[in-house]
Amino acid sequence: MQLENYIRSINDFPKPGIAFKDITPLLNSPEATSACLDKLLKMLGDQKVDKVVGIESRGFFFATLLAQKLNAGFVPIRKPGKLPHTTISRSYALEYGDDHIEMHIDAIEKGDRVLLHDDVLATGGTAKAACELIEHLGGQIIQCNFLMELEFLNGRDKISGYDVQSVLKF
Ligand code: AMP
Repeated sequence: MQLENYIRSINDFPKPGIAFKDITPLLNSPEATSACLDKLLKMLGDQKVDKVVGIESRGFFFATLLAQKLNAGFVPIRKPGKLPHTTISRSYALEYGDDHIEMHIDAIEKGDRVLLHDDVLATGGTAKAACELIEHLGGQIIQCNFLMELEFLNGRDKISGYDVQSVLKF
């Protein structure tokens, strides 16, 4: 199955100059979603994982599927002001703007083996901030995996200390 055929590129969204990678055609196909999940699991191998951390919002889809398959907990990282309990936060630079992300202070226990997941690795700023949140709580990052990587933005350089995997490269 050619998974790249299920990723739609939308030019100039949400801002001029950005080619947005739309994963809704992938999510709309149970066969493609299942094939993609299998690839993510294969990249992880038989490593034990306690928590799968997904980044808002498109990282949530596969992070929850991965957590179920791995019998691990799912942890959301969200945009400011969305999580109801006490949070920790980190600022980050996005391909299109600046923001910060938050995680519940009790979402990860010291020594937890953590898989970080998001849909797109672009400049790597979001993933780097997410790694900092996880490690601040004492989590051990086993792998950072992505549905796709925009190689021309060199995002993996920002998280070079980790095992970085992506299903598709553009
Ligand atoms: P970055 O911090 O630059 O690596 O950006 C990664 C985050 O921004 C991810 O959560 C993506 O969902 C989103 N993102 C960045 N660039 C794109 C893009 N071209 N298409 C879709 N999502 C993107």
